[in-house]
Amino acid sequence: MLNSPLHNSETIIALATPSGIGAIGVIRLSGPDAISLVNEVFAGKDLSIQPTHTIHFGTIRDGNQILDEVLISLFIGPKSYTRESVVEISTHGSAFIIESIIKLLIRKGARPANPGEFTLRAFLNGQLDLSQAEAVADLIASNSQASHQVAMQQMRGGFSSELQYLRDQLINFASMIELELDFGEEDVEFANREDLKALIYQINRILHRLIQSFEQGNVMKNGVPVVIAGKPNVGKSTLLNALLNEERAIVSEIAGTTRDTVEDEMIIGGLRFRFIDTAGIRDTVDIIEAKGVERTHEKIKQAKLIIYLVDPEQNVEEIKTQITYLIELGIPFLTVVNKNDLVSAEFEAGLSVVSCQLSGEELLGDELSVVSSQLSDLIPQTSFLIPHASNPIIFISAKNKIGIEELKSSILEKVNLHKINTDDVLISNIRHLEALQKTEESLNRVLLNIDNPITSDFLASDIKQALYFLGEITGQVTTDDLLETIFSKFCIGK
Ligand code: GDP
Repeated sequence: MLNSPLHNSETIIALATPSGIGAIGVIRLSGPDAISLVNEVFAGKDLSIQPTHTIHFGTIRDGNQILDEVLISLFIGPKSYTRESVVEISTHGSAFIIESIIKLLIRKGARPANPGEFTLRAFLNGQLDLSQAEAVADLIASNSQASHQVAMQQMRGGFSSELQYLRDQLINFASMIELELDFGEEDVEFANREDLKALIYQINRILHRLIQSFEQGNVMKNGVPVVIAGKPNVGKSTLLNALLNEERAIVSEIAGTTRDTVEDEMIIGGLRFRFIDTAGIRDTVDIIEAKGVERTHEKIKQAKLIIYLVDPEQNVEEIKTQITYLIELGIPFLTVVNKNDLVSAEFEAGLSVVSCQLSGEELLGDELSVVSSQLSDLIPQTSFLIPHASNPIIFISAKNKIGIEELKSSILEKVNLHKINTDDVLISNIRHLEALQKTEESLNRVLLNIDNPITSDFLASDIKQALYFLGEITGQVTTDDLLETIFSKFCIGK
């Protein structure tokens, strides 16, 4: 049982730094015997009488054998991450030394920690609430400025305090309604219905904002899925390479060596973009044909952004059909004309007509020629509006790397990140989203029953349900299964 008192009577041990060779390795212990166990094998000062938050140099010995010269950091509970006594041993980063020291301390009585067990203890001991504990895992996994920002904000409790406030208000009403029930037949009303309604409206507004923030929070945490679509040979691979060339250094550094799809991710403006594998779209079919190909179609639908690449030798009527399809799809897209070195005045004029037609305007014949002559002066930098007013066409040359910076700015503009106030609380966890939605449903039922005198039983139980779902997020309500699911995803040593 995760919550059993026995659980915390054990002293746990794990390597807190990544395994492998490094300058140093940090071994962490937490539990009632953390200090005494280390003291048994440490030659240096007597750790049992040292103050908290101090560091001590000495050696770790197995009998007569010196395993390493180390630094010991002491955190005496409750002033520690887990609120238990915690010792961190900084060793030289040799896998052999680390393994020897861990084995030695296990022999002395420590137990290998389970994944996330240090953070689980921090949660069980009230150091963090559940959403903050989850944010610790997100923070460790963060690999862009944006994902770091959402995780950090959640870990620092912005979300928790907002929910706590809502819960406190509701608990107050729940207890008054319970009291009414205790009075049974008597016609008493302790909980003012109008005040309750006002509170629920207020809470619903906050819930609504949090629920709405998920899309943004999720994108910041997990990156933006992007599809580059367009006819074969339009330059999709060349564009991907042009984009990646400039960002590859950062991406490979962050993503490490384990991913084989590393070429398909990049950071632009602190946000991670994930290029969905659209082999089918890239190599064989254009997006119209893709309409009939279910699998490819599904891939496109996963995108939060489509970069629709156009070839200047393409028929403009075909472009019109494809853009119409993209508009119907409802996914934000950017129309990008590649090979701007090959753009002809007729093509650009044709595109202009298409643009106007799609935005509901029809050009008259002589207007068309004016537009076309004006445009030919501007090639290749022209950018004009299509098909909804906010959708400029971008001209680039993927091969010559022209217009790539402008394209990146447009991509960022399209995901709308600049509109986010960085102080706003964003949710990024699907578990939280579901709990918030269920809270909202329960509160909507309260609103339905509130003016009906015979349904105050329901009122109390619906408010309790809402409290339950809110409590699930921060961990006032938990089950072992839930904790297991959350903490098993952590790395060992955290
Ligand atoms: P994909 O099939 O859409 O992935 O297209 P590719 O990226 O393989 O490019 C097809 C051809 O277009 C290649 O020969 C590229 O060199 C060429 N190409 C790509 N970008 C440009 C460009 O900006 N200008 C010109 N002239 N050719 C380009």
